[in-house]
Amino acid sequence: MAIDDATEVVAVRYGYLDSSRSHQFYRYETYREPDGPIRLDYFFWAIRQPASQGGTILVDSGYHPDAIARRPGRVCVLPPVEALASIGIDADQVSLVVVTHFHFDHIGNLSAFPNARFVVQRREFEYWTGPHALRPAVAASVEPGEIAFITEASQAGRVDLIDGDHEVAEGITARLAAGHCPGQQVVVIGAERPLVLCSDALHFREEMDRYMPFNVLFDVPQMYETYDRFNAWAAAGATIVPGHDPQVMADHPAWPEADGLAVRLR
Ligand SMILES: [Zn+2]
Repeated sequence: MAIDDATEVVAVRYGYLDSSRSHQFYRYETYREPDGPIRLDYFFWAIRQPASQGGTILVDSGYHPDAIARRPGRVCVLPPVEALASIGIDADQVSLVVVTHFHFDHIGNLSAFPNARFVVQRREFEYWTGPHALRPAVAASVEPGEIAFITEASQAGRVDLIDGDHEVAEGITARLAAGHCPGQQVVVIGAERPLVLCSDALHFREEMDRYMPFNVLFDVPQMYETYDRFNAWAAAGATIVPGHDPQVMADHPAWPEADGLAVRLR
């Protein structure tokens, strides 16, 4: 499906965390490499289209400042809703939020978008509202109040629960890319040489280049299959945008007047 040339895509970097490679990659000791520092950047993404085509779509909504107050070490450069305003997008203009998965750094702030519908993979919703969501090792990645919010939004008819691939707007498709979470999804924009917003299906480019899973995971073989798919897309000319990789800010031009906060992906 065609996409309008006027459609713009921006990556907004609203925070960061300085960490170590051994902490971020699954079974890092198996690679027999020295440990070293690694920075995670925190992003959300905005797709700006003419109002006639549905207006602004967000891909994720960042973390809520309260959620990082409970998770020391993370630095918030600018709270996501303020960051959005600083690139000229009013929260009221957001018509749709594709929630790639339910971890705290992707699903915060949803209540700030009163006119938005939310697109969620059904298996993600069922996992986090199901019997295992409160087990400590997985519960640490989510905020109960945020799961409650999306549950209430679903009851109010504001959530589109999807199964697999789903075109959310003309030329913009949410695709299931499980592994990191059961219902992790990515967003593919355009058909020929598309832009792929990977979110946490790919924190760092290195994961797909070297088949090194991230340390927070649900299913390792599914992650490898997702890396296979990213590599096939990259070989066909797609632009792959990892979800937490600082290189994104270096690889793409600065968004005008965003003062180092955002880059233009399209
Ligand atoms: Zn994340």
